Amino acid sequence: DEPVQLWSVRKVYGSAAGEVTALDDVTVSFRAGTFTAVMGPSGSGKSTLLHCAAGLDRPTDGKVIIDGTDLGPLGETALTLLRRRRIGFVFQAFNLVSALTAEQNVALPLRLAGLRPRGVEVRAALAEVGLADRARHRPGELSGGEQQRVAIARALVTRPSVLFADEPTGALDRATSRDVLRLLRDLTGRRGQTVVMVTHDPVAASYADRVLLLADGRVVDEFTAADTGPGH
Ligand code: ADP
Ligand code: ADP
Repeated sequence: DEPVQLWSVRKVYGSAAGEVTALDDVTVSFRAGTFTAVMGPSGSGKSTLLHCAAGLDRPTDGKVIIDGTDLGPLGETALTLLRRRRIGFVFQAFNLVSALTAEQNVALPLRLAGLRPRGVEVRAALAEVGLADRARHRPGELSGGEQQRVAIARALVTRPSVLFADEPTGALDRATSRDVLRLLRDLTGRRGQTVVMVTHDPVAASYADRVLLLADGRVVDEFTAADTGPGH
């Protein structure tokens, strides 16, 4: 059961200065209920991998399959709909809407997916990240860690097949990072959530049960929890 599969994915960016091969023949899949960290030096293709896997960007060659659907033939409307229903995304900068309360932020993806947000659903997502008591707060009234947890609740409220996180702890201090990482790890255990996280922090990666190492657009190494010990 592999909700996300990449087959021989290549991504070439063209610019006035010439072409850059950001991903070079990447074949990788993410099993249901696993927590994968994608690591590698700056420019190695981590963000491009995440964006292609999440249907935010289209590969130049190769295939991306989400829940058995090949994204290649999908038009923009169908791709957007699939993304809104099957994919959750968490960013380094949280990207919450500052004028909206936590619960209004969490309800947004349901509206965008054409569903009618129900209060119980929204409150359950906030409870799942430990923020049931912050529903009426606006982002400016929450700590960085709380804002990221609201962002995680927002990403989970549509019950996505996979949650992608791009440097989710990049803007957080160590103690707060640890809380967010424990939450991501617990979500894989508790509800079988598939999580794929880009990070350059080895401590953050140690919460994952699999680490992919990228260099120059290729997967050059892979470790699993069995190789690296029990982790945290
Ligand atoms: P990482 O996330 O590991 O830092 P990226 O996926 O952002 O790597 O980038 C991989 C390579 O692709 C880099 O050489 C980067 O400069 C290039 N790149 C990324 N996005 C674009 C773009 N929109 N246009 C041109 N080149 C890009
Ligand atoms: P446990 O779950 O066993 O208590 P923790 O997850 O709290 O383990 O963290 C283990 C160690 O890693 C602690 O010393 C903690 O301070 C450190 N640590 C946790 N997160 C980070 C981080 N983002 N950067 C650096 N060190 C960290």
